[in-house]
Amino acid sequence: MNQTCRCGGEMTIHMHTLIYKAKVKITNVPVFMCQSCFQYKPHPAVKNDLSLLLQELGGNPKRSRISFAERNELASVLNDTFYGYKGRGKGLEQAVQKAMSERIDLLLDLFRIASEAADKEWMEELESRLLKLVPHTVSRIV
Ligand SMILES: [Zn+2]
Repeated sequence: MNQTCRCGGEMTIHMHTLIYKAKVKITNVPVFMCQSCFQYKPHPAVKNDLSLLLQELGGNPKRSRISFAERNELASVLNDTFYGYKGRGKGLEQAVQKAMSERIDLLLDLFRIASEAADKEWMEELESRLLKLVPHTVSRIV
């Protein structure tokens, strides 16, 4: 469930706010953070979208605030889960899995509506969101 830090400490998942070039606040980034030395690294499942976002911002970004949950389906699900989750420890993994399957159900429902409406663009958007989530229900998230 958790990863181990180089210092030997236990790394657990957190929603983190990254500051990019001292100007851009990127909120709701899922990271693994060490309980002992507070080192952190982005969750492997969001690395791609995160580096795309940083490329987009470029070397001289404008002062702004971005919610990563709006850019990444997994961050969005985790954010919703953490928001509703008050406890700590064991229940979290189950809460995330439950939130993931609810999100997938929702996207499938929307996909059905989009396909009935023959809205190609919407179908493609939903399909890509689904494809980003499905692998993570197989591997472990937290
Ligand atoms: Zn550590």
